Amino acid sequence: MSAAPLTALAHDSWPLWVKTSAGAGEPALNVVEPESVEDVCRVLGELARSGRAATALGGASNVVGCLYSSEPCTYLSMRKLNRVLAIDTDNCTVTVQAGAYGGELERELNAHGMTLGHYPQSLEISTVGGWIATRAIGTFSGLYGGIENTLLAVTAVLGDGSLVETPLTPRTVGGPSVAMMFVGAEGTHGVVTSATLRIYPCAERHVHDAWILPSLADALALAQAFVQRGLHPAMLRVYDGAESRSLLGAGAQGEDASVMIVAFEGLDEVVDAQYGAAERALREAGASACPQVAEAWFERRYDAPAFLTRIREPGFIGDAIDVVAWWSGALDAHSAIASAIREHGASACYAHFSHFYHQGSSIYFIFEVQADDDAAAAQRYRDIWRAVMQTAQRLDVGIAHHHGIGAVRRPWLQCGSPSLQALTGRLRDAFDPRRVLAPENLTPGVAVFPQAQPGGGVNP
Ligand SMILES: Cc1cc2nc3c(=O)[nH]c(=O)nc-3n(C[C@H](O)[C@H](O)[C@H](O)COP(=O)(O)OP(=O)(O)OC[C@H]3O[C@@H](n4cnc5c(N)ncnc54)[C@H](O)[C@@H]3O)c2cc1C
Repeated sequence: MSAAPLTALAHDSWPLWVKTSAGAGEPALNVVEPESVEDVCRVLGELARSGRAATALGGASNVVGCLYSSEPCTYLSMRKLNRVLAIDTDNCTVTVQAGAYGGELERELNAHGMTLGHYPQSLEISTVGGWIATRAIGTFSGLYGGIENTLLAVTAVLGDGSLVETPLTPRTVGGPSVAMMFVGAEGTHGVVTSATLRIYPCAERHVHDAWILPSLADALALAQAFVQRGLHPAMLRVYDGAESRSLLGAGAQGEDASVMIVAFEGLDEVVDAQYGAAERALREAGASACPQVAEAWFERRYDAPAFLTRIREPGFIGDAIDVVAWWSGALDAHSAIASAIREHGASACYAHFSHFYHQGSSIYFIFEVQADDDAAAAQRYRDIWRAVMQTAQRLDVGIAHHHGIGAVRRPWLQCGSPSLQALTGRLRDAFDPRRVLAPENLTPGVAVFPQAQPGGGVNP
């Protein structure tokens, strides 16, 4: 096993942590690189015996501070456990080590005529283990679902260094699914070393297009009708007025116009029928086509967003906040949260809806702050997050859709009734009796929020 620290890695992709470490000489994370499952068992066993904290490290692409720890911690980089172990095209499964990056896995599957159907924007920089731990979702969730719909079985090392392997069957039999207990656990239930995932034959045909609807209310009503009546575009995105204007160019449409991007894929005739039905409904709702917007989206679908590429600019900070709303409250939630973001000092705020369910939808707010210096920007950042989380909780909106809880949402994490909290605590003890695995993660009430330093700069 290599014990060489990854000297460059001082943070994950949480904007506030990235900002914090800028020029602050932040020390590299203490990283070890297991080369085998036995290495993982041994390292975790040793750390557990000495009561020291350990956190699994995937691509470090999470944007909420899942890897942030206020106490010293050993990070187990999974990057050397990155092999595809088996591709079964008959039963449509792939077994892959947890450190495999999404892009590499997808290319290997494509060479066999198969796809995972899991295409997060971070495909090239995130790993299978990270997807499971954060309950990640890809942009084609309408057809392939989130990672919870893709995962069949895991092999994982628990907090005491013991190895577990969950049964592999087409559907869980005999009791609750233990594999699912690793989904969204943010590394607290074990270090996933490999997973068996569902795969699909590559689509025979793919179509996509973009449309402009008179208003966000019109676009959402149509999206709701699609999913509740059984029309499931592989990808469906609805943009609010502000983001639509930035996609279309200023002055191209009215203030309220809302862009919808739709994509279907699968068998030729099925795609034809589905797209035909969607197109009819769009025209009846008064939509006009703007195909260039869909083309541009596909061309840039894996690019890093501006709020991350601009993060080092003095006085600038930005972020994306994903929440999940009921259909009955989606419009109100959008308007209340967007207002809260603007009122707390954002220089720009956009939103889109991009993962749809029978009961509701995700809402993804992007905000930017331009302040006089980094400390002022960080203060506004915290104010905005606080306002969004409080507004969401007031409106019965789920505080997270797919980015996870991490450090940034921890102050608002609610774990239900005292008896439910006690039960989840006992479950966690069963997976990790000494509480060495990412001990701060998913622990309600532990507020770890980097603070602004007087005179500029921010430090945790
Ligand atoms: C530009 C950009 C776009 C993004 N787009 C999307 C998107 O479309 N959809 C989406 O869902 N997310 C998206 N994200 C967020 C991020 O990519 C996901 O949260 C991703 O799942 C994190 O994977 P990772 O390998 O980078 O994990 P890391 O960031 O390294 O770790 C995240 C958490 O997972 C745990 N973990 C990692 N590996 C393991 C393991 N083997 N066993 C147990 N726990 C483990 C860590 O301990 C940590 O708690 C995006 C991020 C960026 C920067």
